[in-house]
Amino acid sequence: ECAAPVAVALDGADLPAGSGLPRGFGLPDDSFAHDGQITKRVVRAMTLAALAPRAGELLWDIGGGSGSVSVEWCLNGGRAIAIEPRTDRIANIRANIAAFGLQDRMRAVHGDAPDFLHDLPRPDAIFVGGGASEAVIDTLPDARMVINAVTLETEALLIALHARRGGTLTRLSVEEATPLGRMRGWTPARSVTQWSLP
Ligand code: SAH
Repeated sequence: ECAAPVAVALDGADLPAGSGLPRGFGLPDDSFAHDGQITKRVVRAMTLAALAPRAGELLWDIGGGSGSVSVEWCLNGGRAIAIEPRTDRIANIRANIAAFGLQDRMRAVHGDAPDFLHDLPRPDAIFVGGGASEAVIDTLPDARMVINAVTLETEALLIALHARRGGTLTRLSVEEATPLGRMRGWTPARSVTQWSLP
């Protein structure tokens, strides 16, 4: 006996196929206003997967840059505060908040970590995409944590953190096909070392 097709109420099922923003992580880099300092799509997807957003949770995004990590966190149900010292990048973050319609769940704070951190509401998760230093790391409250490093100096901090606190240390190397004369070749991006807890 063949069961009748089950009617599934899907959010947005009345919209044309392919419309709206996709669920999941790793929107194209050019979905965001940015100046080149942006966590690239594949690394961003891995970063969000490690951050593991849940509805209503609060993220501190330290070294917000364009705010792309915060935006994807918020699109997946969370709330976020992006901390960024550069005024031009604060402008990009605010432009992205507006473009994605996240005014009610995301904000940009202009300043350097670890200043201001003690004034902010307690986070459920913390991402450090820039400005990771011993001073910053020692100031962070207990929360799920992901820290990305591209410099040897920051990577050294993460190697020490991994020895001391456990968690997961991952090295992400991504290559993308680009034109090479009349052919194509693999262009590697800078490797990113990622430490996450738990
Ligand atoms: N995740 C971002 C890119 C981060 S680039 C994105 O996807 O767009 C690293 C950022 O860290 C830079 O914008 C830099 O200005 C910022 N930064 C550097 N030192 C910092 C500090 N002490 N506190 C907060 N941000 C800092």
